Amino acid sequence: MPSDRYSIFSVLTEALRGQTGWKPAWRKATPKPNYDVVIVGGGGHGLAAAYYLAKRYGLSNVAVIEKGWIGSGNVGRNTTIVRSNYMLPGNIPFYETSMKLWEGLEQDLNYNAMVSQRGVLNLYHSDGQRDAYARRGNAMRMHGVDAELLDRDAVQRMYPWLNYDNARFPIKGGLLQRRGGTVRHDAVAWGYARGADQHGVDIIENTEVTGFRITNGSIEGVETSRGFVGARKVGLACAGNSSRVASMAGLNLPLESHVLQAFVTEGIKPFIDGVVTFGAGHFYISQSDKGGLVFGGDLDGYNSYAQRGNLPVVEDVIEGGMALMPRIGRVRLLRSWGGIMDMSMDGSPIIDHTPISGLYLNGGWCYGGFKATPAAGLCFAHLIARDEPHAVARAYRLDRFRTGHMVDEKGMGNQPNLH
Ligand SMILES: Cc1cc2nc3c(=O)[nH]c(=O)nc-3n(C[C@H](O)[C@H](O)[C@H](O)COP(=O)(O)OP(=O)(O)OC[C@H]3O[C@@H](n4cnc5c(N)ncnc54)[C@H](O)[C@@H]3O)c2cc1C
Repeated sequence: MPSDRYSIFSVLTEALRGQTGWKPAWRKATPKPNYDVVIVGGGGHGLAAAYYLAKRYGLSNVAVIEKGWIGSGNVGRNTTIVRSNYMLPGNIPFYETSMKLWEGLEQDLNYNAMVSQRGVLNLYHSDGQRDAYARRGNAMRMHGVDAELLDRDAVQRMYPWLNYDNARFPIKGGLLQRRGGTVRHDAVAWGYARGADQHGVDIIENTEVTGFRITNGSIEGVETSRGFVGARKVGLACAGNSSRVASMAGLNLPLESHVLQAFVTEGIKPFIDGVVTFGAGHFYISQSDKGGLVFGGDLDGYNSYAQRGNLPVVEDVIEGGMALMPRIGRVRLLRSWGGIMDMSMDGSPIIDHTPISGLYLNGGWCYGGFKATPAAGLCFAHLIARDEPHAVARAYRLDRFRTGHMVDEKGMGNQPNLH
């Protein structure tokens, strides 16, 4: 009898019978002619949406169509940081909903996603930056989110080896969210895929959506590399490919695609307990459970659909790291990789209807969509099932760029590469 549920008993039983009883985590489904809902894109958001559609909204005649393999997109390429330290009213409840879902995710999915609330510390280096962080921390606390403003001594007690004597970027303190941290990114994809499959969702890999069948302004299904698949409703969750895929339905999205790179070093002894971000440059770092330093910085800075980065940004990121923590200078870099970011005009996402009846959009996640995965999936499922936005995602409208209701967390204006 194959094991469905992971538990101490199934682990022991399998140990005694030579690990022969485990089932694949999800079926390799072949497309049926028709579904109630087709989700395009088997990243974190698409899989989470399918899972919640089946589990919370009772819709299990659902397919997730993924052109590659599960985990091949940004869900398996990010630096695994999760947090809910936002400031604007349109953002805080959404990201806090996500944080609460992370906190119960492993029990909900019966899957070890290595959710680790090790704390996220954003450093500040000037009085102005301290004031901005104090304001953000106050906004968070007013919404019931944990935030602590630390002075330099408190930061030094946590991380004595940071470069405090850096004349150009002196560390003056930091904003700490203790409930923030990291989650093993590909385990999130696998866990949601398994959970969705257990609720009857078909996960169809290596199948590309190549077009849409739309009649009189209503969706009828998707054209794929394996033929036509009918659907009453279709949800797009294609992250960096959102505009390319939506253009096949005649939509021109307010998004630009950019490359973001990430880096990992050889494994070394544990020395970074939490996530640290450098407020004077753009650099963020944590240490994986295997000991590798996982870090990243800015976008490559020009539009691209290539899933690989370029050397000038490698240099820039390494410079940021060296300015903040010179002790990493002799660690050897093992790998770097890139992912495509769907940068929106105000840095905030879109979870909304499109002008085509039955076609829904989840996109514009810029480089912060991993932390949003559970709430994005839940809110997208809610929108598709109920045809109305979820209460915490009302601000993420597609028409806000036309009506001027921006959710511009960083105050950068319509410069997607700066968000
Ligand atoms: C280097 C890097 C670091 C990052 N760091 C963080 C971080 O620390 N914290 C954080 O919150 N966020 C981070 N992000 C952002 C985060 O990874 C993304 O915002 C998020 O993963 C996007 O949602 P997704 O998981 O659904 O995307 P994806 O996993 O990219 O899923 C989209 C899927 O759509 C599929 N697809 C596209 N076109 C088609 C088609 N025509 N037919 C079928 N399928 C199609 C793709 O193959 C892909 O699998 C980072 C991203 C990168 C690249």
